[in-house]
Amino acid sequence: MPPLVRTLTVLAVASAWLCRSAIGAPLPGHPYPGVLTLSVDLTDPGQKIFRVHEHIPVRSGDVTLYYPKWIPGEHSPSGTIDGVTGLIITAHGDKIDGGQIESARRVEWRRDPDDMFTLHLSVPPGATSLQLQFQLLSPGAGGEFGQSVSATPDIEDLEWNQVLFYPAGYAARRITVRADVSLPAGWRYATALPGVSASANANATVNASANAGAVYFDPVSLEQLIDSPLIAGRHFARIDLAPGAAVPVHLDLVADHDSDLKLTDAQLQAHRNLVTQAKALFGARHYQHYDFLFTLSQNTGHFGLEHSQSSDDRLYARFFTDPDTYVAGGGLLPHEYVHSWNGKFRRPAGLATPTYNVPMRGELLWVYEGLTEYLGDVLTARSGIWTAEQYRERLAATAAGMDHRPGRSWRNLQDTADEAQVLYYVPNDWSSWRRSVDYYDEGELIWLDVDTTIRELSAGRRSLDDFVHAFYGTDDGSFIVKPYSFEDVVRALNGVQPNDWAGFLRSRLDTHATPAPLAGITRSGWALSYSDQPSASFKARSKVRNELDLSYSLGLTLSTAADSYGKLLDVLWNSPAFAAGLAPGMTLLAINGRKFDDERIDEELKAAQAGSAAIEILAQNLDSYATVRVDYHGGPMYPQLTRVAGTVDRLADVIAPKAPVPD
Ligand SMILES: [Zn+2]
Repeated sequence: MPPLVRTLTVLAVASAWLCRSAIGAPLPGHPYPGVLTLSVDLTDPGQKIFRVHEHIPVRSGDVTLYYPKWIPGEHSPSGTIDGVTGLIITAHGDKIDGGQIESARRVEWRRDPDDMFTLHLSVPPGATSLQLQFQLLSPGAGGEFGQSVSATPDIEDLEWNQVLFYPAGYAARRITVRADVSLPAGWRYATALPGVSASANANATVNASANAGAVYFDPVSLEQLIDSPLIAGRHFARIDLAPGAAVPVHLDLVADHDSDLKLTDAQLQAHRNLVTQAKALFGARHYQHYDFLFTLSQNTGHFGLEHSQSSDDRLYARFFTDPDTYVAGGGLLPHEYVHSWNGKFRRPAGLATPTYNVPMRGELLWVYEGLTEYLGDVLTARSGIWTAEQYRERLAATAAGMDHRPGRSWRNLQDTADEAQVLYYVPNDWSSWRRSVDYYDEGELIWLDVDTTIRELSAGRRSLDDFVHAFYGTDDGSFIVKPYSFEDVVRALNGVQPNDWAGFLRSRLDTHATPAPLAGITRSGWALSYSDQPSASFKARSKVRNELDLSYSLGLTLSTAADSYGKLLDVLWNSPAFAAGLAPGMTLLAINGRKFDDERIDEELKAAQAGSAAIEILAQNLDSYATVRVDYHGGPMYPQLTRVAGTVDRLADVIAPKAPVPD
């Protein structure tokens, strides 16, 4: 276990935050007296009920308890307080209320009227601990991140922040918790948390026992506990991604079926390459071991959530067995892995909060998420998970999306980061006007712009890799957070290649100009263009998502799923479909008098291209039907990158694998 002592820098940042915080008194630097114990009963996956018993040592008097509200990596006040039910708190001690022997007394609690995640209560004289018992009703369908489905009859994904309260007034790093879980009989599990049964080594624990019963973990800080989720399941596999290495990396899989757990030799090698390529890129590592906790299921939520020594990755069941799913989702694990360096070890000061009930500031998410998106995709290509062509196809789709963002006229990219704390939960419709979390995709384009600028100014001698090495490659083995500011980023860039980086970045973050920042693509020797044929990756993504993406022709995206066939998922602002009056939520029933058939849509677009008649669309809007005319004659349009003759192919240099470095 690493030293869990806060650095002076972290303390300085924490106090600066607290001055602005509405939460209350500054946090003392000393540890919370006593060890919290937390028992989570996960033996009821069918009903999705997680049963919790928690003991918190206390002294008599007024106590405030927090339920985690601001969840790291979610960048939002997205804690699942609405799933907490059956909460009963009892006080324990030998001499409660002056000498009478009493083992437990119920303590009434009152929720803070201004903050639903805060409880106030009064501990009776003589009591030495509180016991909390409650149930977390694990979320149903439809939510994001931890608010999505985390329990099925075959799988459970446990985020500790959902199953605990903690005392106010102490930094999460200074509260110690000893946790245990009970699992269904025959299930196996994985977590980066050190366990008693595996305390002889620091590797992630794997319970191979066929017996049900509690699994006890070593005491850790509240911060490390919440940073170490657990996956468990009936169908489980554990794969070594760094055989023989001093610092272990594993791929832990839970799935709906055993057959979903099988990797091809090429997939295994590519994910092993990911580990060596990340080491070559970053230099240092900020984990003592790392576990990809990968859930492969049609029934859970689909997302990734980063942690220092693991990632909570959830994708479709057939990720490894269906090539389209593999290419569509291949960038997820690299993205979350990059976050171990960019996001967990180094974190924007506004996101490096001392507890889970202090508000987070997202202003630097174009670094936290944007650079991770860039480096994640680069590593996906360098490791061979994607081919060079698949990398370019993905980049073309990203560039086209950002190049069709009329919302830029009212909102610059900086504002999307500033509003991050609500943006993950807004609807997906009208996305080109809302802009939503564009700091991912547009951030990726900006960092390509930075990378190729360094390469150009240094005549190919240096690149963004040098910045990455300098900024993230220190303190090998440490996962004590090192916060950073905008100025720190600029300083580190200037250390690699002198330039007006502050002006460079601000002009791209604060602008309302169009087009999107595509200079990185141009400087790479490529150009964004449109073809009448979708790329293989574009088709794969549409297939996996059950959608038809006509954003760059008619200006709409619609569902091809059986239960919502033809429903408009989005309409591009100011597009031909927009001008005709179409809107997200309507259903496209017929085109030019014929029942809508997604496989024949390009034929209709080509027919309209050859003539002057508008395309007639019959659309349903709730109980109303209307025929609208879309005046579009440009034919099918799908994004691609085309090589600019006579230029240097810097994109090939960017994604060329680096020589492995000794472990
Ligand atoms: Zn991310």
